[in-house]
Amino acid sequence: MKVIDISMTLSPGMEMYPGEPGPVITRMSKLESGDLYNVSQLTLGTHTGTHVDPPLHCIEGGAGIDDMPMDMLVGPARVVDLSHIRKDVEPHDIGNVEPGEIVLLKGKKGGVRLTTASAQYLMDKGIKTVGTDALSIGASGEEYEVHTVLLGADIAVIEGLVLSAVEAGQYLFVCLPLKVAAVDGGPARAILIEQ
Ligand SMILES: [Zn+2]
Repeated sequence: MKVIDISMTLSPGMEMYPGEPGPVITRMSKLESGDLYNVSQLTLGTHTGTHVDPPLHCIEGGAGIDDMPMDMLVGPARVVDLSHIRKDVEPHDIGNVEPGEIVLLKGKKGGVRLTTASAQYLMDKGIKTVGTDALSIGASGEEYEVHTVLLGADIAVIEGLVLSAVEAGQYLFVCLPLKVAAVDGGPARAILIEQ
């Protein structure tokens, strides 16, 4: 069994979506100052690094991260290699997907960003979850539409995956966002298990 970590490392100065507050790590108690323990405070935006978008991200009254069924974030998954696509991804680029699937999209540098037509295609196909290696899943100018189509259809959206070293194929996927009450995004650790 091989475990592949597909999470971004949280650190000050990491790549962020424009406008998103990055992580700040402040040492509150220090061994070097004579304290008995090292303890830090971590602050970060809810959409920092690898993270899950629950419906509440775009839909008022939608489920928050703590209300998402965990079976949406754990299970057999298919990695689709779209790194040869140089532009925003269209339905024919994705190819066939199955109802109930977890689909992880690997792209060129900057990651896979979907057109609204692609989001509608994934909704029509009835997939369970879509993940991307981009920090936002929507094509530029279509971010809101793409999010509302996917989240409105109760498809889990995971952004900021690290798939550059992962080959296309079938894996077991595990993504565990922090369980924070009624919040609109969940920084997460995500792994693939090769069986
Ligand atoms: Zn997000």
